[in-house]
Amino acid sequence: MFDDIPVEVGLVHAGERIRKNDMYVEMGGPEIKEKFELVKVRSLDVVQDDAITVIGPDISDMEPGKKYPLGILIEIAGAQLEEDIEGVIERRIHEYANYLEGFMHLNQRYDIWVRLSRKAYNKGFTTLAYFGRVLMRLLKNELPIIERMQITFFTDPEKIPAVYAEARHAYEARDARARGLTDGDVDLFYGCALCQSFAPSHVCVITPQRYANCGAISWFDGRAAARIDPKGPIFPIEKGDCLDTVRGEYTGINESAKKRSLGQVSRVYLYSAFTYPHTSCGCFEGIAFYIPEVEGFGIVMRGYRNVTVNGLPFSTMADSTAGGRQVDGFHGISLEYMRSPKFIAADGGYERIVWMPADLKEQLREFIPGDLIEKIATEKDVTTISDLVTFLTKASHPVIARWKPEEAGTVKDALGASPVFSAGEFPFQAGGFKIILKNARIYADKVTIVPIKPKRPGRGE
Ligand code: SF4
Repeated sequence: MFDDIPVEVGLVHAGERIRKNDMYVEMGGPEIKEKFELVKVRSLDVVQDDAITVIGPDISDMEPGKKYPLGILIEIAGAQLEEDIEGVIERRIHEYANYLEGFMHLNQRYDIWVRLSRKAYNKGFTTLAYFGRVLMRLLKNELPIIERMQITFFTDPEKIPAVYAEARHAYEARDARARGLTDGDVDLFYGCALCQSFAPSHVCVITPQRYANCGAISWFDGRAAARIDPKGPIFPIEKGDCLDTVRGEYTGINESAKKRSLGQVSRVYLYSAFTYPHTSCGCFEGIAFYIPEVEGFGIVMRGYRNVTVNGLPFSTMADSTAGGRQVDGFHGISLEYMRSPKFIAADGGYERIVWMPADLKEQLREFIPGDLIEKIATEKDVTTISDLVTFLTKASHPVIARWKPEEAGTVKDALGASPVFSAGEFPFQAGGFKIILKNARIYADKVTIVPIKPKRPGRGE
C-alpha cells in the first residue's frame, strides 16, 4: 500500500497475532504500569503537520526480546474538529496499527500492548516513525477535516508519567461528561461495528448508560463520529419501541443487531447478562462471570494476573466470552458501564456481585452502594468457591435470598466438595461432536494439570 514503508499495510493483516518467540520487542503490555494512547484536538498554530517525534529509545535502539514503556500522543488540528472526536480517533489507532504486517496492537487507552515481529524488524521496520506515518495517512484519508497532525511516541520511562497523568485526566473527563445523561433522555443510540474484523457478529450498542465494551467510546463520542463520518463504522440506531424497560430491550436495537450481524443476533438486552445479553467482541475491559454455586457474579478485569475465585484466569474466561456471541453468564463489560446505575440492572446490579479484585473495588467505591461494599469479597478475603459461600453467608449478602432450599443443599454440599470447574457454558469435543454443558459444575477425585504451550498469545495472555 505504501512504497516507503518496509512492511505490507492492509486489512489482510488485521487480527495477526505475534507470539513471544516471534517478537522482536514488546511495548506496553501487562507488565508495564504506565502506557497510553491519547488523541488531543489542539489549535492550528501549535500542531506541526506531519511531525513525528520519538522521545526515548527508538526500535533500533531497543534490545531484542525486551519490554519497553509506550505512550502515543496524537495531536490534531482543523477548523471543524471538536473535542468529541478525540475518543473515536483514538480507537482507530487499534484498527490501523493492526493493518501493519508484523505489528500487533491490543486494547486501548491506558492498557495498550504492542508487539513487533522479528520478521518485520528484519524487513527494515526499525523506527516507530513508520507506524506514525501509516497512522497519519490512514487517519487523514478517512477524516479530511483533520488539517494538521503531529505524533509523539514516548518510550523514555522518565518522560512518560507527566503525559500519562494528562491522558488519565482526559479519559476521566470524557467519561464523566456522559454520566449526566440517562438512556431515556436521548432519542438515538449509536452502534459500532469496528470490531467485526475480529468478531463478525458483534456490534456494540452505545447508550448514555451502557458504555462501549472497550471503554473507549461514549455516547457523545458515538454521536460525534456518526456526524463527522456518516459512512464509518459508528452509526445511529433509532431506539424504536421499548419492549422491556428493566432488561433494556428496544425494537430499534433488535432490528439493527439483526441487520448488522447478518441474522446471527436478533434480540439484545442492554442491562442483562442472561438470555439475550449484549454481544462481546474481544476488546472488553472486563468480564462479569456467573458463579452458579452462589447465584452471583464475579468481575475480573483484563490486567488481573491471578486466577479468580472460580479457579479460572481472565484469559480462559475471555476465550469463553469473546467472538461476538451471546454467552449466558459470561459478559464482556467496560469499567465505565460498572459506574452506571444500569449495570446488569435486570439481574440485580451490585446486589448480584459477590467477588471482584480488591483494586477494582477501590476504583469503584463511590459507585457501589455503601451497604454492599463490605459484602463483596475480594481475593484478599476468599480464594475458593467454598470460602466464598462462607463469606457471603457471614456478610448476609443479599444474593443469599436467591438460594432456594434445594440450591442451598447444593451449596452446602459444595462446602465439603468444591467443584474443580464451574462455568456458565463449558464446551469440549469428544467422538467427533462438540458438546456444550450449560451451568456446568464438575467434581473430580483427582485433578492433573499439565501446562500447554499456547499456540498464540491471546488477549490478556
Ligand atoms: S469494542 Fe465496541 S465500541 Fe469498542 S471499537 Fe469494538 S465495536 Fe467499537
